[in-house]
Amino acid sequence: MKYIPEPFKIKMVEPIRITTEEERRAKIAAAHYNGFGLRAEDVYIDLQTDSGTGAMSDAQWAAMLRGDESYSGGRSYYELIDTAREIFDYEWIQPVHQGRAAEKVLFPVLVERPGQYVIANTFFDTTRAHVGLAGGHAIDCVCPEGLDTLHEAPFKGNMDVAALERHIEEYGVANVAGIVMTITNNSVGGQPVSMANMAATAEVARRHKIPLVIDAARYAENAFFIKEREPGYADKTTQEITHEFFAYADIFTMSAKKDAITNMGGLLGVREEGEHVPDVKSLVISSEGYVTYGGLSGRDLAALAVGLREGLNEDYLRYRTGQARYLAECLDEIGVPYQRPAGGHAVFVDAGALLPHIPWQQFPGHALAVELYVEAGIRSCDIGSFLMDRDPETGAPQRAPLEFTRLAIPRRTYTQSHLDVIAQALGEVKQRAEQVRGYEITWEPKVLRHFTSKLRPVQE
Ligand SMILES: *Cc1c(COP(=O)(O)O)cnc(C)c1O
Repeated sequence: MKYIPEPFKIKMVEPIRITTEEERRAKIAAAHYNGFGLRAEDVYIDLQTDSGTGAMSDAQWAAMLRGDESYSGGRSYYELIDTAREIFDYEWIQPVHQGRAAEKVLFPVLVERPGQYVIANTFFDTTRAHVGLAGGHAIDCVCPEGLDTLHEAPFKGNMDVAALERHIEEYGVANVAGIVMTITNNSVGGQPVSMANMAATAEVARRHKIPLVIDAARYAENAFFIKEREPGYADKTTQEITHEFFAYADIFTMSAKKDAITNMGGLLGVREEGEHVPDVKSLVISSEGYVTYGGLSGRDLAALAVGLREGLNEDYLRYRTGQARYLAECLDEIGVPYQRPAGGHAVFVDAGALLPHIPWQQFPGHALAVELYVEAGIRSCDIGSFLMDRDPETGAPQRAPLEFTRLAIPRRTYTQSHLDVIAQALGEVKQRAEQVRGYEITWEPKVLRHFTSKLRPVQE
């Protein structure tokens, strides 16, 4: 097993606490068996998300001190949009406070009539929620190999372009408000989308004059996978690949908390400043703040400008994607199944296969997450049927195509030995897999239930 060494050294440390199993059993019960309810201090290794949890560089911290806090027209704003324009080659760039804020100001403008459809390679949960809140129907359309966890393929995040065409025909072009390409495809395991698939999707979008939106949270990891895996791209830089990829789309939304390695921030980009921009700007001003700060402090804009460039660095991306690959290889050794190959930001353990005795209604992905916490203080989360909200019309529980427990790796934060601890804990849980029980919900909110639901173990 090869671990790609860190292209940085550590200048500042943050102590983490080791707890006893007894303490952890009490803590998770008090949190109603929902990891989001735990205090972070009671977690040893936090793999709940790679969102906003990365370590900023000395250059980012230095830039923060120089942040311009002017209400309008600040220098940090111009530095950020100049950087983003250069990287994405889009005319209009709007900072927002995080990715879902970009979704919140975009989808009410894109979805013109209630009942219109928006089709994606797979929606992320907040993106799906914002399509719904805007009155639209969110439809997933991932390639078949994306749902076959054991099948090794280089671009399992791809859109099923033939199915996309069929959907458009079935709904009628006028009823399709947009097409979304999520890179990397978070919900099917951080799997990348190829340039060829993006080109084919763009061809369909242009032929029907349907706007094509990139959900760009992990665009840099996606670019690095294209460089590594797609014929013809080995000698291109991640910057060149990014230009080519983004030229196929019309709009992008982005959580800067992922590949731009900031603790807070987001972007919205429009390639050709056109009809949608004035409406989006009005929504930004009413919900995020004036357009030149978009819900962020000047220092956040400054850190984001620096992080955008660091996130595209190829030595960093080799190490970054190497961490997930290393963890996956450790799981191969102990025979724990996961979405193959490892994704860019995470390893998605196939909890449905590891805990086959737990039915989907009792959330195997969630059960494994609770068990990992009890075992070793590792916090992860369900990407499965617990994450799926109920059908908005019928209220029926919806089954996810796969029951995953996501081990998301924060950027530049944990070392090789932390990864070894994670693999060892999974090995222990595998030994007693048959004793792991499913969960039932005792209280849930109307949307995005996995964040705040209360649960309890199912009694035999
Ligand atoms: C994180 C994420 C979002 C939402 O961004 P936030 O910054 O958490 O609001 C949207 N899409 C994808 C693919 C993401 O990973």
